[in-house]
Amino acid sequence: MTTRLTGTVALVTGASSGIGEATARALAAEGAAVALLARRGDRLEALAGELRAGGATALVQAVDITDPQQAAAAVERVAGELGRLDIVVNNAGLMLTGPVADAPADEWQRMLAVNVEGLLHVTRAALPHLVRAAAMAPRHVADLVTISSTAGRVARPGTAVYNLTKFGVNAFSEALRQEVLAQRVRVGVVEPGTVDTELASHVRAGIREAIARQTGEIEALRPADIADAVSYMVTRDRRVAVNEMLVRAGAQTW
Ligand code: NDP
Repeated sequence: MTTRLTGTVALVTGASSGIGEATARALAAEGAAVALLARRGDRLEALAGELRAGGATALVQAVDITDPQQAAAAVERVAGELGRLDIVVNNAGLMLTGPVADAPADEWQRMLAVNVEGLLHVTRAALPHLVRAAAMAPRHVADLVTISSTAGRVARPGTAVYNLTKFGVNAFSEALRQEVLAQRVRVGVVEPGTVDTELASHVRAGIREAIARQTGEIEALRPADIADAVSYMVTRDRRVAVNEMLVRAGAQTW
């Protein structure tokens, strides 16, 4: 087994299911100590137990990242207890789609709160730790990876506010990339296509069926396919910065 991240600490938001859970597994398999963040502590504990049984170090932090105090305290606890912070994967997200005209305002608010504000709270708290880790062995580089979406590149009817959040995090990441590259913090986005996770289960009935009709014909990606992309990004030598990876399902047109 390769362990290219031995001696490092990785924090993954939204590690209680889907892409975040698979990413935590992949980074632990590369030797990173992993901090698992999400609201569902029981799911995080189950994953941590599995990772520890495999010899990994795993820290569970139940947290709602939309609360700036909670988010900052969670990041500080991880850096304090695990001693450093080399990799942050901003993965937690919500997709509550449907036409703008019919949308309940609270769905927009929840998406903005998690996909944008939560990401900002975690990033603000994590950056000083990433800068510090980037100056240290074993890697002399640190990574901030955001799970964006094909919806961060292509806007389509029915996903306007989700598009707004994902285009937004792409723009934020690109600006931040240029700000911190001199400190050897690599900033990147992974843009998945359709992945088989719980994401669409939160969508209103009716819209959910429309999504199923649209995606039913194609074989969806698996969470591990996206975890692979994250793992590839963060295991490059420090002279290499893979800043963007678009990973579609093979039969996906959009
Ligand atoms: P899941 O619904 O399986 O995972 C979402 C994760 O976000 C959960 O672990 C959830 O944990 C966490 N989360 C949600 N709200 C909060 C909160 N307030 N505080 C902390 N954690 C929170 O979906 P995916 O794995 O698919 O989604 C992960 C990312 O991938 C998202 O950013 C999504 O936009 C993106 N993506 C997904 C695609 C897909 O087709 N599945 C395609 C493109 C991008 P908990 O509920 O325990 O808090």
